[in-house]
Amino acid sequence: MKIDSIKVNKIKNSRGEDTIEVEMSAGLFSVKASIPSGKSRGLNEAVVVDVDKAIDNIEKIITPQIVLREISDIYEFDKILLNLDGTENKSNLGANTILAMSIVFLRLEAKAKGESLWECIRDLSNSTIQEMVFPRLFVNLLNGGVHGNFNLPFQEYMLILGDGSSVVDFFNKLQEIFEKLGVVLKEKFDDVQMGDEGGYSFKSTGIEEPFEILKDLDLGGPSEIGIDVAAGEFYKDGVYEIADKKYSSEELLEIYKKLNEKFNLVSIEGPFAEKDTISFAKIMKEFDRDDLIVGDDLTTTNPETIKKAIEEKLVNAVIIKPNQIGTVSETLEAVRVAKESNLKIIVSHRSGETMDSFIADLAVGVGAYGIKAGAPSQPERMVKYERLVEIEREVKG
Ligand code: PEP
Ligand code: MG
Repeated sequence: MKIDSIKVNKIKNSRGEDTIEVEMSAGLFSVKASIPSGKSRGLNEAVVVDVDKAIDNIEKIITPQIVLREISDIYEFDKILLNLDGTENKSNLGANTILAMSIVFLRLEAKAKGESLWECIRDLSNSTIQEMVFPRLFVNLLNGGVHGNFNLPFQEYMLILGDGSSVVDFFNKLQEIFEKLGVVLKEKFDDVQMGDEGGYSFKSTGIEEPFEILKDLDLGGPSEIGIDVAAGEFYKDGVYEIADKKYSSEELLEIYKKLNEKFNLVSIEGPFAEKDTISFAKIMKEFDRDDLIVGDDLTTTNPETIKKAIEEKLVNAVIIKPNQIGTVSETLEAVRVAKESNLKIIVSHRSGETMDSFIADLAVGVGAYGIKAGAPSQPERMVKYERLVEIEREVKG
């Protein structure tokens, strides 16, 4: 495949911050990709460079090396990018720069093969999926932590919807749930705001209150609750500070145990700070094997860090965020490593999102167990759900 031209634009993400959108053309095809950004970031995440530098890097360094050159596939393309960057953490060109190029190239590759993007990803990842799997929806309804000015102690309170067979029915249900929750909250609280991921944010009076609110929503059946604690955000000098109170790792673990028993808490992401690996190992031993202990800042979509977490038995599920690592091929390698050890895969958006729906195709393509795409309120989140629905239509007709 030969790329004819590349264009890069400065656009805004859902937080109103600048980011890049890249357009790539080859023959009759022209495709785009844009890049999200995270707020609660792991220490090992690949480096993001300033948007003007990213644009410069694409125009002056990358474009002259790739336009009109014969490139066979995404693996060769990513290698060219990685060589041009030449660093471990992508600090030269920037993970945002590199990922935009990598995703947009993959879209061209899919077009050239006459495949849908998720199909192309499925073929590339040598996925052993026999039957189609649709990701369960890990829907963030209440936003706290750094995504909600610490109105609520934990960053994300999620309902987990779906059974792997479909998205459509659960997506419709989700919109009803979200509206119903809005009515309940506005009756209960004077000041209900919108957090970074489009969920509701309100001043909570205690750790259990948000769980009680979610549990009391009459969903016509038992509900499964998940949280992303993003505990690294309130870890200081070896203790966890929640609403002006300090908790040791052991005390925090006790809180999780109680929440787990009381509220059918089936998934805990980032329960401890990434440095506090002893506590990850402890919660893995003490929780039921069916409950998910999910790595995010701890694992950063990096095949090597995921391997380490597997060896030390720190998690049984991982968040996959392409911009934590910076290329499509490394993201697919991270998924492969995790799946090989039977870890559950949860593909995730970032808190500062764009209208790019790449993660929907990625989740279906790799046969992910779940997807985090936020609340059904902001267009940058809705576009991911809508793409999942579109994929389901493509598959089922
Ligand atoms: C997360 O922590 O899982 C998340 C989506 O937030 P951010 O993008 O701010 O890291
Ligand atoms: Mg997280």
